Amino acid sequence: MAKLILNHLCKDFGTGGGAAVNALSLDVREGGFLALLGPSGCGKTTVLRMIAGFEQPTDGSIHLGERLLADAANMLPPERRNMAMVFQSYALWPHMNVADNVGYPLKVRGISGERYREKVREALATVRLADYAERRPADLSGGQRQRVALARCLVTSPDVVLLDEPLANLDRHLKKEMEETFREFHQRSGATMIYVTHDQSEAMALATDVAVMSEGRLLQVAPPAEIYARPEGRMVGSLVGQGAILSLILPDGRPRLIDWSALKKIWNEQEGASEHADILVRPEDVIADAQGISCRVVSVLYEGERYAIRLSLPDGQMLRAYSREVVKAGDVYPVAIRSAWRL
Ligand code: ADP
Ligand code: MG
Repeated sequence: MAKLILNHLCKDFGTGGGAAVNALSLDVREGGFLALLGPSGCGKTTVLRMIAGFEQPTDGSIHLGERLLADAANMLPPERRNMAMVFQSYALWPHMNVADNVGYPLKVRGISGERYREKVREALATVRLADYAERRPADLSGGQRQRVALARCLVTSPDVVLLDEPLANLDRHLKKEMEETFREFHQRSGATMIYVTHDQSEAMALATDVAVMSEGRLLQVAPPAEIYARPEGRMVGSLVGQGAILSLILPDGRPRLIDWSALKKIWNEQEGASEHADILVRPEDVIADAQGISCRVVSVLYEGERYAIRLSLPDGQMLRAYSREVVKAGDVYPVAIRSAWRL
């Protein structure tokens, strides 16, 4: 196993719409769990297919450690990359039982006997399906079928596991359960995983690192907590987490993390100002404060343990906040913003 290195990776399908993937450079460390996050059509699947060997880059390169997997002139076929790809539809063979489904890639490679049985047993244990070896796919739940598909990809001990929106078709409850399974699968297998999703909460919950893409380009790659607290730019700020982006005039040299006293001053004065900036305010940083900025409640969403509210600031810009107290649309609601992040 080794680090997966994407260098200036490009894919232009030549359809005239511009490059699907544009100069994307990214290292995925060995044993890492990277989520590739971005809106539909931004090029995520194309990146994954290039890594797997189903598409050839039009520029740039892909290395696994020292080994060149692909560039515009070279192309190692998929079966020689020791990777496994899990798709949205997990395509199990209905006429085979669970053990035979899982063992199929070993058969193809000519592995049999005790070694075969041992590997199938191990793979099934990793996804906690040791007792289901004899069942048919039709007798399993959706989540169990997904786990069989995972075991089947694990059985050949791939260096890299590629997952393309594997939970997109599942209901919310099963999604949560499968997120647990993926995390556990990653810890137990030690495989390097790349997980494509357009769902930011999935990316944040699962991955050790999140790479945010937009229109073929990589915008930022960082651990989830850092992407959340310190997003680079408006696009990342709006894609990751809840929050409001406000436009303010900031004095020169303002730090990126802005505290309340500074913010209040900016709000009240807005003079001596020279720099127009977008700031991101997370709802958990907006707190009720009688001495604060006078806002009005625009809408309220009851979430069980709290109310998610939208507020309008005196200048008409919108803010999001959480309240444990009952509030209703039209209420006056003065707030303090504990901190904000300059995008
Ligand atoms: P995502 O997975 O993020 O939704 P894709 O990688 O599937 O995005 O697609 C990125 C862009 O590349 C889209 O504009 C899509 O239409 C285009 N594209 C993808 N595959 C092909 C193809 N085989 N031929 C032409 N264009 C393609
Ligand atoms: Mg896709």
